[in-house]
Amino acid sequence: MNPAPKPLRADVLSADPPGLKGIDCGQCHQRSFPARQNCPFCGSDAVEDVVLSPRGTVASWTVVHQAPPPLVTPYRLVTVDLEDGVRLLGAAAGAPQIDSAVEVELFEMRTDHDGDPLWWYRFREVTPA
Ligand SMILES: [Zn+2]
Repeated sequence: MNPAPKPLRADVLSADPPGLKGIDCGQCHQRSFPARQNCPFCGSDAVEDVVLSPRGTVASWTVVHQAPPPLVTPYRLVTVDLEDGVRLLGAAAGAPQIDSAVEVELFEMRTDHDGDPLWWYRFREVTPA
């Protein structure tokens, strides 16, 4: 069995189960991203780490033409509204449009100093069944 993927940033990605890591506020009941100690809406510290919904809808997009390695340009940067109410930015694989259904995909961004793969996220368009 393969070990759980190592996230590039532990406050952004959950390794097990794999996905985007956010918080669920016990005070105002809103979810947010990334994981942090206090709710960004009401300031409460009664927050719980959660793995956010992997599915969402594209709200806007643009094309990035310059970025540091290992990013390969051009790529599409999308704003996504996840099913659980969280809006966030991410790179997209392919060319999703506004209102496209997308899902979170983890991929190997680069390796660390030991040569172990480090994982990051992007959004991939979901084709209707
Ligand atoms: Zn709150």
